[in-house]
Amino acid sequence: MEISKEIYEYKKEIVDAENLEQLYQVWVKYLGKKGLISLLNKELKNVPEEKRSEFGRIIVGLREDFEKLYQEREIELKKAEINDKIEKERIDVTLPAFPLNYGGLHPITQVYFEIVDIFKSMGYELATGPEIELDFYNFEALNIPKEHPARDMQDTFYIDDEVLLRTHTSPVQIRTMEMKEPPIKIIAPGKVYRCDSDVTHTPMFHQVEGLLIDTDTTFGDLKGALITFIHRLFGKDIPVRFRPSFFPFTEPSAEVDMGCVICGGKGCRVCKGTGWLEILGSGMVHPKVLESVGYDSEKYRGFAFGMGIERITMLKFGIDDLRLFFDNNIKFLRQF
Ligand SMILES: [Zn+2]
Repeated sequence: MEISKEIYEYKKEIVDAENLEQLYQVWVKYLGKKGLISLLNKELKNVPEEKRSEFGRIIVGLREDFEKLYQEREIELKKAEINDKIEKERIDVTLPAFPLNYGGLHPITQVYFEIVDIFKSMGYELATGPEIELDFYNFEALNIPKEHPARDMQDTFYIDDEVLLRTHTSPVQIRTMEMKEPPIKIIAPGKVYRCDSDVTHTPMFHQVEGLLIDTDTTFGDLKGALITFIHRLFGKDIPVRFRPSFFPFTEPSAEVDMGCVICGGKGCRVCKGTGWLEILGSGMVHPKVLESVGYDSEKYRGFAFGMGIERITMLKFGIDDLRLFFDNNIKFLRQF
């Protein structure tokens, strides 16, 4: 009984195994059920008795040597496998990150904040009121009784005979005056609703209302406040003019125009060739409005003004279609 030279090939095969699976196959080949070294054990009984123990020691020696080499290689391969895994899973922190899509403020919101900031810096307090409003606050208390022709100017969404969606921010004036005594100096921005929809009208839009009540308020104060505001918003060189107008809740009333920001006053399509743009309505608070909230109209005087935020935003950014504000087209909105 001889031990073939081939059996010592395991030394090389163990070292050559490139991974744990290959290494295991070497183990199967030599120490598995039908492994070359295992088979030697079975042959032991055929070995003459005087040589059997020597042969047995050789087999045990082979086994021990195989297992020693095997364990060493196994440790090496396991280490390599872990290193390989770490290498593959490494995160390159120097790679550029995915671009984040962050939101911005809608142009109307930007102008809304800008208008509020200007008036706040002039000492006006922010006031708000409900969008679902009583007829009394939206019309009656503002000197617009039922059957008044001014009601036809505002196509109202009625919820029932007495409840409606406010058509302007003016009811906030009444609610504020009901709650406190003069002096009052407020700015009331918010959403308003009218049953109207075409190129220049949307059913919902934004207004800013201003109200100042004191004992010695004059039309000059009104002019000063509004000219300052327009100059802060559009630039100090913009000309401003006051035109007599009519509103039921102010007397006298004035429409305020500013020089056309599109053509610089030369005349264009936006200003219809006049060089002027109508920007807000204003006037001295009508004594009947003061009386409707229980103020002494002999003692107190004040002024009020209102403007549409959409219109101002269009003029500020040179936008010519109102509907763009409400389409929510991201390509349009990204420009602001
Ligand atoms: Zn113009």
